Order: sequence, then structure tokens, then C-alpha cells
Amino acid sequence: MFSYWEIKNWFTDVDYTIVGSGIVGLHAALRLRERFPDSKILIIEHGPLPQGASTKNAGFACFGSLSEINDDLKTHTEEEVLALIQKRWAGLQLLRRMPFVNEVLKPLFKTDVFAKEVDRFDFKGIHEYLIFNPFEGQIDTGNMMQALLKEVAVNNILILNSQTVTSYNEKSDGVDVALGNFSFFSKKLLFATNGFAGELTKGLVKPARAQVLITEPIPNLDIKGTFHIDRGYYYFRNINDRILFGGGRNLDFEGETTTEFGQTEIIQNQLEKVLREVILPNTDFTIAHRWSGIMGLGNHKKPIIEQLSQHTYCGVRLGGMGVAIGSMVGAELGDLV
Ligand SMILES: Cc1cc2nc3c(=O)[nH]c(=O)nc-3n(C[C@H](O)[C@H](O)[C@H](O)COP(=O)(O)OP(=O)(O)OC[C@H]3O[C@@H](n4cnc5c(N)ncnc54)[C@H](O)[C@@H]3O)c2cc1C
Repeated sequence: MFSYWEIKNWFTDVDYTIVGSGIVGLHAALRLRERFPDSKILIIEHGPLPQGASTKNAGFACFGSLSEINDDLKTHTEEEVLALIQKRWAGLQLLRRMPFVNEVLKPLFKTDVFAKEVDRFDFKGIHEYLIFNPFEGQIDTGNMMQALLKEVAVNNILILNSQTVTSYNEKSDGVDVALGNFSFFSKKLLFATNGFAGELTKGLVKPARAQVLITEPIPNLDIKGTFHIDRGYYYFRNINDRILFGGGRNLDFEGETTTEFGQTEIIQNQLEKVLREVILPNTDFTIAHRWSGIMGLGNHKKPIIEQLSQHTYCGVRLGGMGVAIGSMVGAELGDLV
């Protein structure tokens, strides 16, 4: 049970409560601080650290591979795809269709985005399909999130870790927010819970687990960059002489539609196989570490940034591109209030 002091300092006179301390929640808090300098802003986070995708991802500052964008154009209009990529780009296609995808993106980039590339990396079996995108880069996910958390602290925004918002009850002047048996009053409640927003959005957001592995350092590793294979279902990059490799969700869509963290044999075996046979066919390596994160997907790739009721809001369904669009989604969420 919380003490008198805890209740007085943390849970009294709360103006804005944000659920989730991922990229979106932190940016929403910073935007609220900009707009309301004297307000009390509280972030409630289920995990000891942000515990969804923002500290688990691969750190691609990207907006989609050629084959992934090509796939999107089958289910979304050209305008929708351009708007989506514009958003990803502002926050930071199969070979035959490359000229077409380049045309669709031209209003934004003013030049061809995708070009055929000579494979100097010795990847096995994909030489013919290697496509280069000069607009993409890498980030260190851990450094990014630490910097963001520091900025939030400097801006006098409180984060409560290891607390879960279990329910809420809307009133005429605000919301009673429940953390298990304890509840407090907040004038507004903002959800930045991405993959965990299934119930909140009545099923519009579906959780999608993504499994990742990283190798031990590899002497003289010559691979540098961010790489996508098979419509973005696989992705790898170099980091500190290691290869970080993730994906394979398409091997078991049903099993990976879960909010449970964990690894499965079928996906981990396939990751190791592709690593051994395609990415590092001539190099010995050992796996150092494996983990997973939870993304928020749905039938549409557009994020849901909405007012849900008089005092509640959400910014969710970031897809697999939250590094690129998370800051903007957070800022838009903060602007809704
Ligand atoms: C393995 C992996 C690789 C990825 N690679 C990339 C990449 O290279 N490039 C890219 O752009 N994107 C990538 N992504 C996607 C990107 O990481 C996400 O889109 C982004 O982090 C989503 O941020 P968020 O703040 O919306 O959600 P999250 O970071 O998931 O934050 C939501 C938070 O809400 C908390 N929460 C949920 N419910 C509650 C509750 N009831 N009470 C309290 N707290 C709660 C969770 O604990 C969580 O910390 C990847 C994702 C994964 C999993």
C-alpha cells in the first residue's frame, strides 16, 4: 500500500496520466510539458524498464523495404502509403515493381529511393535481389531510450515503474485510474500501450511478438548497414562487431499473436539457419543472446491517434516502425488534449 507521502507527492492533483513509457508515451509527455509548463504529468509503466518494443527493437531508422512497401500497396491506396512513409520519413518495394514504387515516393524524396546494388557482402542466394536505400540508417536503441528518459526527468515528468493500470472509471471532470486495489484521480488519461491496446481498441490492435538474436563479436566483420529480407519479415544489422538478426513471425502468425514475451524453437531455428546459410555462409559465429518484444499491428498500418471519450485518448498501432514514427505519434497524442 502506498504511504501518505507517496500519495501526496505522486498521486494528488494529477493533470495528465500517460499509460506506457515507450517512445510514444515519453514523447506525448514531453509535448504536454511544452504545452502546459505547470501541469503535473505522471507516466505509469508496467515494467521495470519500458517493456513492450521501445527497448527491444532492432534500431533501424527505416521506412520499409521495397518488397514491404510493394506488399502495402496491395492493401492500401497510393495516397495512404505515401502518407505513411511521409510520417516515417518526417520522424527520420519486388524488383519488377521498383520503378513504380520509386514513382509513388518521388513527391517526397525528389529522387529514386531504391536502386539495385552490387553485393559486396557475399550473402548467399540473394545477389540478384540486393537493393540499396541511401535514406536509411542505424541507431543505438538503448542510448536513444536512455536519452529520452533523461529528458523526461529533466522536464519534471514523473515515471512510476512496475505499476499496471488495471482499469479506469470516467467521471464528468476526469478519470479514476486503478492500479490494482489503489486508485487515483487524473484530469486526463492517455494510452500509449501499443501492442497491449487490444481490449482498449476493441480488437483493432493485435499484439505481434518479434523474436531477435545477437551473435558474439565476429572478428573482421565486414557487414555494415541495415538489411531487410522478404518484405521486412527478416531484418539484420551490425552492432559492435556483432550481427543482430530478427524476424520469422510469418512462420507462425497465430503463435506470435501474443503479449507474452518468449522464444520458440521453430523461429529461433529458422533465424539460425538463415544466418548460417545466407548472411554469414563463410563465417563461424556463436549466438550470445536472444530476446523478444511486442509490437502492435492491425488490418491497417496507419496508427490510431484518437480521443476515445471526454477525458481519454490513445496513440497506438505503431506497426514495426515505431522508431521512425513514434516521436510524431507521441507529439500528436499530446496535441489531442
Ligand atoms: C524485436 C523488434 C524489433 C523492432 N525493430 C524496429 C526497427 O528496427 N525500427 C523501427 O522503426 N521499429 C522497430 N520495432 C517497432 C518499434 O520498436 C515499436 O513500434 C515502438 O517501440 C512502439 O513504441 P510504443 O511506445 O508505441 O510502444 P511500447 O514501446 O511497446 O510501449 C508501450 C508500453 O506500455 C506499457 N503498458 C502496456 N499496458 C500497460 C498498462 N496497463 N499499465 C502500465 N503500462 C502498460 C508496456 O509495458 C510498454 O512499455 C521493433 C519492434 C520489435 C519488438
